[in-house]
Amino acid sequence: MGLQFTDEENAFRDEVRNFFKTAMPEDMRRRVVLGQKPTRDDLVNWQRILDKKGWAVPMWPREWGGTDWTAVQQYIFNEELLQAPALPQLAHINQVGVVILAQGTEEQKRRFLPRIRTMDWFFCQGFSEPGSGSDLASLKTRAENKGDHYLVNGQKLWTSQAHRADWMYALVRTDSAASKHSGISYLLIDMKSPGITIRPVISLDGSHHLNEVFFDNVVVPMENRLGVENKGWDYAKHTLGHERAIIAKVGLSKSRIKAAKELSSRMMCDGKPLSENPRLREKLATIEVELKALEITNMRVIDGMKHHTHTQDPKASVLKLKGSELQQQTLEILLEIAGPEAMPKQTEFYTGGTSEALRDEWTATVAPAFYIARAVSIFGGSNEIQHNIIAKRVLGL
Ligand SMILES: Cc1cc2nc3c(=O)[nH]c(=O)nc-3n(C[C@H](O)[C@H](O)[C@H](O)COP(=O)(O)OP(=O)(O)OC[C@H]3O[C@@H](n4cnc5c(N)ncnc54)[C@H](O)[C@@H]3O)c2cc1C
Repeated sequence: MGLQFTDEENAFRDEVRNFFKTAMPEDMRRRVVLGQKPTRDDLVNWQRILDKKGWAVPMWPREWGGTDWTAVQQYIFNEELLQAPALPQLAHINQVGVVILAQGTEEQKRRFLPRIRTMDWFFCQGFSEPGSGSDLASLKTRAENKGDHYLVNGQKLWTSQAHRADWMYALVRTDSAASKHSGISYLLIDMKSPGITIRPVISLDGSHHLNEVFFDNVVVPMENRLGVENKGWDYAKHTLGHERAIIAKVGLSKSRIKAAKELSSRMMCDGKPLSENPRLREKLATIEVELKALEITNMRVIDGMKHHTHTQDPKASVLKLKGSELQQQTLEILLEIAGPEAMPKQTEFYTGGTSEALRDEWTATVAPAFYIARAVSIFGGSNEIQHNIIAKRVLGL
């Protein structure tokens, strides 16, 4: 693969960039710039704007509303989306979407894919449990086969957005006697089913997006199982591969570097703009070089994924590892540059009335973003686990 974009690819980038500039309602864009959490209406409206353009589910095949974009076009689309800035597309669209495409019956495809595309149905991921995070295959939530339905009992943990979701794609144990990877099935669970209890888990940035989810004799119709019983682990690997490719977020790190350069050129230190500080310049240059390398690896991995097979490319682990490190480093450098201005606005009571010194509203989102970004090297498989995967499956050690 060449490292330069072709003329056609650059023209495509311009088209995407221009679309993002004009298509997103201004009030929504302002909320994104200020780092405010999108409402469900925001997400649905934005997804429908993309759908009208035919860009709601670029990774899916055309017959299900997708595109026939090359891997490079898909990459450009995601990168521009993150840099616009526009609302990101929800990860579940690809994570569960690709499994339904690969393993779903025609009936399941007709039922779920259009509603995922238009975001009538919003999914959460029910994989992790207490004691089963890194060692996910040890999960204990049980689903007993009762003929025409499963009876589900157990607990999930760290379930992002469970309180807003209509459905969960869940891994459950259907054969306790089999080896731990072999007895797992992949179910789609209606979150309104009787017997489901959701409790909030508040994260370090003070927000509620994480949850505990409890299942007490929850009935799940047999037709909500994806693929073959006890083969769920194979399908989960496909989901996780996509999750790791998305987690790299090169475009997001790029936009933060751009913001860091712009902000540091306006912050004065010893009578000079901070951007002239050699230590800061060196740090920024190092991050930019690493980001370029990640960008190229990202293109290679996405190229391998576009065929919708259910094999996981272990190189996605490199994206997860480097991408999350760079997201954390770019926020760290923004935090350094913004200093006290990285904090959410304080009331006059605490500041003695100096809060008007804040020069950019968006800088106040840097500290909360820095805190929650500690999690990027944990979710989707922690970075220590990615090191193990890279050692074994990429380097063959
Ligand atoms: C913000 C956030 C959102 C999340 N969203 C979801 C979600 O929507 N759905 C979902 O299912 N899960 C979600 N998770 C859960 C996430 O996938 C797990 O937290 C993650 O897999 C780690 O598992 P754990 O928390 O149980 O930690 P543990 O597995 O207990 O790990 C603890 C520490 O030990 C290290 N460790 C463990 N095993 C090894 C090993 N073999 N070698 C080296 N080091 C090791 C880990 O790297 C880590 O540092 C989310 C987590 C966070 C923080």
